Amino acid sequence: MRRGSMLRTLVLNFCLLVTLVYLLSLTYKSAADLADSRLQVPRFLLVSLMCVPLMFFPAQVAPGVFVDLRAVPIAFLTLRLGWGWGLVGAVPLLVYRYLLGGVGWPPAMVSAIGVVLVAGLFHGRLGLFRPQWPWERLLLPLLLIFLPNGLLLPIIRHDLSLYLTVWLPLLVMCFLGALITLGILRSRFRLLSLVETFERQAHQDALSTLANRRQFDLDIQTLGPDDVLCLIDIDHFKQVNDVHGHEAGDGVLVQLGELLPRCLRASDRAYRYGGEEFAVLFRMTGAVDPAVLGERLRAQVAQTAFTVLGGAPLTVSVGLARRGEGSVGDCFRRADVALYAAKRGGRNRAVVWGPELGEGTG
Ligand code: GH3
Ligand code: MG
Ligand code: MG
Repeated sequence: MRRGSMLRTLVLNFCLLVTLVYLLSLTYKSAADLADSRLQVPRFLLVSLMCVPLMFFPAQVAPGVFVDLRAVPIAFLTLRLGWGWGLVGAVPLLVYRYLLGGVGWPPAMVSAIGVVLVAGLFHGRLGLFRPQWPWERLLLPLLLIFLPNGLLLPIIRHDLSLYLTVWLPLLVMCFLGALITLGILRSRFRLLSLVETFERQAHQDALSTLANRRQFDLDIQTLGPDDVLCLIDIDHFKQVNDVHGHEAGDGVLVQLGELLPRCLRASDRAYRYGGEEFAVLFRMTGAVDPAVLGERLRAQVAQTAFTVLGGAPLTVSVGLARRGEGSVGDCFRRADVALYAAKRGGRNRAVVWGPELGEGTG
């Protein structure tokens, strides 16, 4: 085969490899997928079988001697999972190459096993998918991994010039193929991890680290008839800022953000939905009087020593309403009316909405 024709075929093989790895990268839908053990077997098979289509389009450098980028997926499997799984992953490659026959199959076996052995040396040592891990540190390992690939070919063919005309181009193409496809996977994981971070931040309050107003607006829509909405407003918080300073005020919000979730069951959730206004959604509380829930929170706050205030007392007013048969909007208005009643009644108290309080204004 002429040299230009071999290179052209290797470039075609390279494009196929990039396409296959790109499709593989699309199977990762979220950052958690990387660690999801349920998906590991299908992906393992996908990468392991990737060698076969690559071997459909080989460059035939002599009768019965084929070169292609089949070593790249096997190198990935070994880097990620170690020698044992690397060898298991190489089975389709070895079987298919054996079936193809020709004088090239014994050196092809040696090539595949050689790549697995060298790649295995780097298993667990490279931060393949860690975004902070500099990609430059992948260069030398990737080069070394593909050194055994086709190494015996010139010896078996009794033609050392093949090191220059076949082995070297194959080494370069495998190296570039691995580098670029790893780049595709790394950028996919980085994108997914950024999306996860931004999604989390979009629904989290930066100061208290509780869920924020945006999350509250989403979650309140799922309020069931037995669920209870609880609104909490710090009493005389303006004075806290005036007397102790705005930073101390912030410290109170942080401490309250830590305290509230500790008072709740796993199914309930606390939110900071405004400046010094918090909310709790209590789920499935049909048998429990909302007054008990509100009173428990109020008492917890009143008993807490707020370190940033040097032990000065801090209280909250609490308004509660059960969703019942009304709309979510009705429920919110009722809890707000109850909160207002708690403030009017002298603060530091929990009030449950009842018809005697009225519906408030929409
Ligand atoms: P009331 O008992 O009637 O609720 O009185 P209040 O002083 O708590 O209520 P008011 O609405 O008059 O004041 C709320 C104060 O909360 C005013 C504002 O400066 C303060 N505040 C709101 N957000 C923040 C924040 O993020 N940090 C700090 N330190 N203060 C905040
Ligand atoms: Mg307020
Ligand atoms: Mg207040």
